[in-house]
Amino acid sequence: MAEYSALSLLKNAFSGNRDWKPAWRKPDPKPSYDVIIVGGGGHGLSTAYYLAKEHGITNVAVLEKGWLGSGNVGRNTTAVRSNYLLPQNIRFYEHSMKMWENLSHDLNYNVMFSQRGVLNIAHTPAQLDDFARRGNAMRHLGADAHLMTPAEMARRVPGLDVSKSARFPIYGGLMQERAGTARHDAVAWGYARGADRRGVDLLENCEVQGFIKDGDRVVGVNTSRGEIRAKKVAVAVAGSTGHVMRMAGVERMPIESHTLQAFVSESLKPFLDTVVTFGMGHFYMSQSDKGGLVYGGDIEGYNSYAQRGNLPIVEEVMSEMLALFPSLAPVRVLRSWGGVCDMSMDGSPIITTGPLPGMYLNCGWCYGGFKATPASGWCFAHTIAKDQPHHFNAPFTLDRFHRGAVIDDKGQGATPRLH
Ligand SMILES: Cc1cc2nc3c(=O)[nH]c(=O)nc-3n(C[C@H](O)[C@H](O)[C@H](O)COP(=O)(O)OP(=O)(O)OC[C@H]3O[C@@H](n4cnc5c(N)ncnc54)[C@H](O)[C@@H]3O)c2cc1C
Repeated sequence: MAEYSALSLLKNAFSGNRDWKPAWRKPDPKPSYDVIIVGGGGHGLSTAYYLAKEHGITNVAVLEKGWLGSGNVGRNTTAVRSNYLLPQNIRFYEHSMKMWENLSHDLNYNVMFSQRGVLNIAHTPAQLDDFARRGNAMRHLGADAHLMTPAEMARRVPGLDVSKSARFPIYGGLMQERAGTARHDAVAWGYARGADRRGVDLLENCEVQGFIKDGDRVVGVNTSRGEIRAKKVAVAVAGSTGHVMRMAGVERMPIESHTLQAFVSESLKPFLDTVVTFGMGHFYMSQSDKGGLVYGGDIEGYNSYAQRGNLPIVEEVMSEMLALFPSLAPVRVLRSWGGVCDMSMDGSPIITTGPLPGMYLNCGWCYGGFKATPASGWCFAHTIAKDQPHHFNAPFTLDRFHRGAVIDDKGQGATPRLH
């Protein structure tokens, strides 16, 4: 199996890079497993890794309809942060942040986690007050946060229009220095290799097309590669959650599927060493290691399973970018793409046992599930292994929507695009 030491890089360079070993096996499906995980995205792969590593459960298969990492884990804009207001979210995402800080060592795979900071820009005095409140909540629970003045922001972010005549004048910002970015593909590949190495079967081109039940209990799945039985069936399919859960007979989920687009510009010399978010709309930007500016924005205003978006969002994202950085007007956009996001009705995730016996569910990641990848897998593995949640994910139940105990960090109500 592939190792990426300096010695192996040198050896393979001399043999024309023809002798690299695959990073994981390509096994055939077994008739049954202890645990099946549907969905080979970041969350499915990290769940398999922690099931094996933390709980010694290795008779596990990850079933992916395409190739590993073909979903949102390989399509996101890679921002990692824990800058939330509500304690349930701060605790969970701060746990994830601590796991990110050691992830490359844990996986022995460089996920290129770069703690370059995430800066939220405030455009009104009231918004700055709101950010100060959120920063205080974060610090109270052990996360880092500090406010920045426009002058400090101008020094940190070249090109940012902090003038009084700006389209949306800037009053200050909330910075989380430990936040940043990571290489998304490497996260999927690192978890995949780590899980495979511990005996997990990673089954690509294996689409789940139905669930096998014994009464109410889920006891297996029908797939494009045949029937596979399991004691426990876990679902982590992000934007396909509604579709997959319907196959199991769960008709109504508090999830809407929307396309979220991202954009990358031509390469520029490095000038931006942090992630910047706009406060008067939905826009954020960072600079990749290759020099491209990575832009993100709002979800499409309609439900869709298409992995590509539409022109109104392109226009919105570009106009918001120019409101902050007028000098970037000549920079050309090279590519755009889309992923299907699982927008929950309160903006917070679901990591739970059920909703059927024998089943476990992980979804509702909205705009922000990449940063959750380590903690989500870790908590979901705990939930599957112990048949009860860890205290980090105990609040993220499905029945909170029935009970009215929603976790609405932004206080926006059931409006997916505003979370
Ligand atoms: C453009 C964009 C930008 C984003 N930016 C950020 C960001 O900056 N920071 C952040 O934290 N988050 C971000 N996100 C969100 C983040 O990427 C997702 O929340 C997260 O990746 C979802 O979890 P996942 O990785 O498991 O999903 P996915 O990678 O989508 O995994 C789900 C997998 O399930 C598979 N699947 C579906 N149906 C079936 C089936 N029937 N049988 C078998 N397999 C099936 C899919 O093929 C897919 O591979 C962004 C998302 C997008 C689209």
